Amino acid sequence: MNPEFSAKSLSISAFAKAAAALSGAEKLSNFSRLMEESDATSLNAEVHFQAQGEMRPDSAGGFSAWVRLQAQTRLPMVCQRCMGPVEMEVQCDRTFRFVATEALAEVEDETSEEDVLVISKHFDLLSLVEDELLMALPAAPKHPTCPHPVKLSVADTDFIAEEADKPNPFAVLGQLKKGAVD
Ligand SMILES: [Zn+2]
Repeated sequence: MNPEFSAKSLSISAFAKAAAALSGAEKLSNFSRLMEESDATSLNAEVHFQAQGEMRPDSAGGFSAWVRLQAQTRLPMVCQRCMGPVEMEVQCDRTFRFVATEALAEVEDETSEEDVLVISKHFDLLSLVEDELLMALPAAPKHPTCPHPVKLSVADTDFIAEEADKPNPFAVLGQLKKGAVD
């Protein structure tokens, strides 16, 4: 890892020209939008990322900056089948081409195969990591095989039945009070 490049504030042009690489791990709790999608009780979960800069020839005869970004995490979520906790592997691997202006990025993003972003001297790579992982989230997280799907629903039914059989605690209290007064 090159200490002159910071994932929070990356000079895309310098990064690509140096064909530099940057990798790191950040606590999941630093990614507020991912945390909202997560059932995170484990605050030790981490997001790992790697970025590789590169200059590639462009159609105008010059060069443009490209960055390949890979990121992965194990996000604690709720299984949509058994409603139990499940850790989902979420990852992305995308390559971005950087252009000079927002207007250019909009036009070129429509017509290009690759994703086009606006070049910056202070690019927030971690924010892009979060965007990409959010897009890669499973719509319906599930265990490959749920640990106790049947047992859990039976246990829930028993629990409700047990609750119904029990006398109302306020009724019991009322009877006790009556007894005390009498
Ligand atoms: Zn499950």
